Amino acid sequence: MFKRVLIANRGEIALRVIRACRELGVETVAVYSEADRGASYLELADFSICIGSARSSDSYLKVDRIISACEIGGVDAVHPGYGFLSENAHFADVCRSCNYEFIGPTAEAMSLLGDKNSARTIASNAGVACVPGSDGLIKSESDAVRFADKVGFPVLIKASAGGGGRGMRVANDKEQLATAINQAVQEAQNAFGNGAIYLEKYIELPRHVEVQVIADNFGNIVHLWERDCSMQRRHQKLIEESPAPNLTEETRKQMCAAAVKLVKAASYTNAGTVEFLVDADEKFYFIEMNARIQVEHPVTEVITGIDLIKTQIKVAAGEKLPFEQTDIKQKGHAIECRINAEDPDHNFRPCPGKIEKLIIPGGFGVRFDSYVFAGYTVSPAYDSMVGKLIVCQPTRDEAINSMRRCLRELVIEGIKTSTPLQQRILESPEFKTGKVDTHFIERKFMKKEEK
Ligand code: ADP
Repeated sequence: MFKRVLIANRGEIALRVIRACRELGVETVAVYSEADRGASYLELADFSICIGSARSSDSYLKVDRIISACEIGGVDAVHPGYGFLSENAHFADVCRSCNYEFIGPTAEAMSLLGDKNSARTIASNAGVACVPGSDGLIKSESDAVRFADKVGFPVLIKASAGGGGRGMRVANDKEQLATAINQAVQEAQNAFGNGAIYLEKYIELPRHVEVQVIADNFGNIVHLWERDCSMQRRHQKLIEESPAPNLTEETRKQMCAAAVKLVKAASYTNAGTVEFLVDADEKFYFIEMNARIQVEHPVTEVITGIDLIKTQIKVAAGEKLPFEQTDIKQKGHAIECRINAEDPDHNFRPCPGKIEKLIIPGGFGVRFDSYVFAGYTVSPAYDSMVGKLIVCQPTRDEAINSMRRCLRELVIEGIKTSTPLQQRILESPEFKTGKVDTHFIERKFMKKEEK
């Protein structure tokens, strides 16, 4: 096992990794930007090192500073968390070449799967169904027209390097195609420095269902079942749950098997998530793989009883997976609400500021993963998520009731949060019956001009 791990991240996930390491008897080095100086979780790490100013590009994204912190901190491994450098193959490579094990997949597997277009190729070669679309990247407008004619409008132009919903544009007809291409290329170039795009059939009213996987360095691969993440606004998840409602046992099993097939084909190791879209006929299509731990991993942890962060660390340290596929059962029903510092009544605008009062819910099957406290000032410099509320109950109905009760108990004064909207979603008859899709929130809860 490692002696000391550096956490190349901040906030909730930094604290989550510190906790896992403490339980494993592994020391931790936390890094922080000047904006995060004084954050309480830093005191729970064994050491902490300032790596720069508030701007991520001057701190959490600065590979050389993080590597220096590894050297100063005397660590033997790095946990990247999610976001920031977590899917940066160059960073994984630099860590390993400096003899700091990167807790995640190999740089090769990450590059292969991190690029959405190449991930599509690997998936289809492995016999995993992808959304019908272009065979590879789009090189010209006439290329795009040809593929769009083949699959039929509407189509989605996607950035190969895309993430966080950026670089994606819908085109309903030939006239919109040229504009959509230009916009997607421009946005992808600005956000990722890579304007490569491809085309997919736009699936109408799909559900987003993803499969958690983890693999060790000895060829053992398991899935930890699925999560439904259809509750999104602007392609960003707000509520996640497991098991996915209204999915036949047959589809669930086929999807999980497909995820394992893809992981095997890419020789992928450590934790990852294979994302699918499910259409109205329950046909599922691979969309992308996230080569890292995800925000919503606790949903899977509470229904399988498996600590994913500890397992990630063990696998990276060269241990075999401590369980087999048949050991992994879905027990009960879990729901997670991402608690964001934002105003759902005003176009989800971020609401950073000082938390004046904080009361955290508890009780049977309740987990609150957060780094904030009363008196903490949420910085405008980073993602607006301040915590994750997770409940687990024997049935879905009970989980919904428990989440509603917890959202009522949760008090965060001083800033606006996403909770009033989440309360309304949980109360809606559509959510209760699980008859939802990725556009549900926009359709039901957002004003036209906000969509
Ligand atoms: P990102 O990496 O930017 O988050 P994804 O490929 O994971 O992009 O897609 C994010 C979301 O966009 C999906 O959950 C879904 O809501 C929507 N989406 C992606 N591809 C399609 C498609 N072909 N048809 C319809 N919706 C899609």
